[in-house]
Amino acid sequence: MIKVNDNFTQLSPSYLFTDIAKKVSDYQQAHPEAHIIRMGIGDVTRPICQAAIKALHRAVDDEASADTFHGYGPEQGYAFLRDAIAEHDYRSRGIEIFSDEIFISDGAKSDTGNIGDILSPDCRVAVTDPVYPVYVDTNVMAGRAGCLRPDGTRERLEYLPCTAENGFSPALPTGNPDVIYLCFPNNPTGTALTRAQLKPWVDYALAHNALLLFDSAYEAYVSNPDIPRSIYEIEGARRCAIEFRSFSKTAGFTGLRCGYTVVPRDLAGRDSEGREVSLHALWLRRQSTKFNGASYVIQRAAEALYTPEGREQVSETIRYYMENAQLMRHALTEAHLRVFGGCDSPYLWVECPEGMTSWELFGRLLHRCNVVGTPGCGFGPSGEGYLRLTAFSTHEATRRAMDRIIKENLRN
Ligand code: PLP
Repeated sequence: MIKVNDNFTQLSPSYLFTDIAKKVSDYQQAHPEAHIIRMGIGDVTRPICQAAIKALHRAVDDEASADTFHGYGPEQGYAFLRDAIAEHDYRSRGIEIFSDEIFISDGAKSDTGNIGDILSPDCRVAVTDPVYPVYVDTNVMAGRAGCLRPDGTRERLEYLPCTAENGFSPALPTGNPDVIYLCFPNNPTGTALTRAQLKPWVDYALAHNALLLFDSAYEAYVSNPDIPRSIYEIEGARRCAIEFRSFSKTAGFTGLRCGYTVVPRDLAGRDSEGREVSLHALWLRRQSTKFNGASYVIQRAAEALYTPEGREQVSETIRYYMENAQLMRHALTEAHLRVFGGCDSPYLWVECPEGMTSWELFGRLLHRCNVVGTPGCGFGPSGEGYLRLTAFSTHEATRRAMDRIIKENLRN
């Protein structure tokens, strides 16, 4: 029989969303009359904006005629989209990022997962805790994470707790990691770091030759001017950070699929012989060998998001979700629950009342309010004692869910 990659057999089964689905479906069967409102899963609900829809139609028509047809595209992405990103997401905001440092992809999950291909299997890795599970699992697949401990953590990973006690601003690592995953605004906590809080991370990375993998999939939700939307707003980050972005939560592309990764030309690593190697060159080689590029049609849709019409429509959608988030923050506070996030992010992180576990609060919310959240313990040990709610519902469903929570006393 064929020998398999042992690293894959070391993955912990991912039960979280299966367990949630089972509990919800058991409850619905027992209470067919209950109208359950799902606020657990991080998918969007608003349709794609008109500017992108029109661009999609035009791009489909391009494919119907020999003189405008597009076959294999550049693996790094079409220049029309890379130029628009460099201009609107970076240079117009005073950030020095060039079009050829941008790599278009089918999304941030793929890129945050694949980036490890160009890093040594020996690299020591640090992750914030709670954590977007892709960072951990892809390091397990690469053999970097070490054995599973009884508490669900991995022996070779450094976990950097983010809790109410430290204001969701993790302490710098102590284990001398080579690679540090940061995600701000954060999934799942919905909290973000200010420029002043992020600066020590860039300084640390430069001083210790560490690489920051900065996931800013939720940057479009930032409204506080003290919170950077890009790690490159921090001086020195071009020499120590790769940034991942996505059109999924920005423009509802969870189904269309498009995102991008920025690998500055200044970033260098070393091979096992001690020779300096450009990370940009390695990622370009990795992508052009293993990735076909995002489709022409989808890239045209993404380009349209940067037109004046597209920018206004995207802002309108973000405003819609953030109105939900604001309503949720008020209602949860009125219900005497302590809540974090939801100001510069579509996620709210609800602290469980004293002595209650994440699953207990999940159960109470489901049974008494018919509302589904995600137990925080599913995102790592520091997620225990919290529950994640998302602002991606409609206004009507959000209001109904919050009215039910205010009426119930979830504290006892
Ligand atoms: N990064 C974070 C932190 C996320 O929460 C998500 C999606 O939920 C992703 C990346 C994935 O984004 P994409 O849809 O672009 O793959």
